[in-house]
Amino acid sequence: MRWAERLGTLAVVAALVGCGSGSDSEDAGTPAEDAFVPRPDTSVPEEDAFVPEEDAFVPEEDAFVPEEDAFVPEEDASRPDAGPAPLLETAASDENTGPTGEIAVTVPVTDHRSFMVVATGDTNARLAALDITAPDGTTLVRWQDWTDAQSLTWAFYAERTSMAINWPVRDVDPALVPGDYVVRLGSYRVDGVTSRPDVPIRVTTITNRDHDLDVGHVRVAILWANGLGDDAALVSATERAVAHWADVWSSAAGMEIEVRYLETTLDTTLPYPSPMSGDLLLEASSLTEPGEVPVIIGDSIDGSTSQYGVAGRIPGPMVASTISAIVVGWLANAGGDGEFSDADITLYGEVLAHEVGHYIGLFHPFEQTYDSWDALDDTPECTTRRMCIDMLSTNLMFPFSICEGGTCVSTTELTSDQRGVMQRYTGAL
Ligand SMILES: [Zn+2]
Repeated sequence: MRWAERLGTLAVVAALVGCGSGSDSEDAGTPAEDAFVPRPDTSVPEEDAFVPEEDAFVPEEDAFVPEEDAFVPEEDASRPDAGPAPLLETAASDENTGPTGEIAVTVPVTDHRSFMVVATGDTNARLAALDITAPDGTTLVRWQDWTDAQSLTWAFYAERTSMAINWPVRDVDPALVPGDYVVRLGSYRVDGVTSRPDVPIRVTTITNRDHDLDVGHVRVAILWANGLGDDAALVSATERAVAHWADVWSSAAGMEIEVRYLETTLDTTLPYPSPMSGDLLLEASSLTEPGEVPVIIGDSIDGSTSQYGVAGRIPGPMVASTISAIVVGWLANAGGDGEFSDADITLYGEVLAHEVGHYIGLFHPFEQTYDSWDALDDTPECTTRRMCIDMLSTNLMFPFSICEGGTCVSTTELTSDQRGVMQRYTGAL
């Protein structure tokens, strides 16, 4: 996320653009650490319980073969001219976290590349992922391993009324193999710590078969808050910013965007994404198609005209939910004077590229506490402001912008590992 702050005493007097992580929910370390101690460590009984499950798996695997055989004639019969299986498939069901406050979601994988599980509960519940288990019983990732200085996914933090987890995340995470993956989720009270049992949740699972990790295609819906789509200057500036974003993503990551614009009656005063503003994000994302990244353009965010944009979550869901949107304040992107200069438009495009980068899985390479980093090997773990500027200032996910005289250092670069994350987002085709 990005917002502006002013450091008047520095030689660089112009608005120094901060990327908001310091004092808000993107600084995910604190709640996670809070959550660490009290959250029951269920990994031991789970592992114990696993042995019979593994035994039981063998016949299931055998049973799989005829099922696959059976699928072919069925497809032929119903759709004589059917092509290959669809790249994206979605399954949704109503579940309940039951007496334990935990639920295991099974994701059947055949020839898929990645999957996403999205869960939405009620306003009094906070949802988090606990772990993911591979078909052979291996625990691939556990929340306990991601509460320290590195960020892999926000799905492990019980902070919101919805949760989305994408797997695999990085090129070092093992590729999917055929079989049943299990994603365990937990429901918690609003403190994000105490288990809250018996929470009804809507679970959506999306699987992706697109194995091309060189080119990714992401659809975006830009939602004009009430009346802003009638502002010709704003529309023109936004279209130019989107063109710059498209260039940045294409050349740095092989990512293509397809953008459409929607008029809405959403209030132009946008909230900061939080459990309290979940209904607004749900309302906005319900106006878009599944798989589209919803980006709301408003005047301001949380009453501030110096905050550029905030992503609902990392990663963001591919279906409507209480975390499914990015909010963007256009006045901040116009430099505060309501007029877009060419430099403003460049920054605006990079803000959009940055925020949607968050939405499809990217963290800042470092947070402004200088003791927290992304989980990627090829983004250096810099430990001071000066060191981070020297090493990373042109990276798209740099958490603040360095501006002088109304022009900011252009942030157009992405590392190979960052590209790998973007290409693995289940919504990238
Ligand atoms: Zn950011």
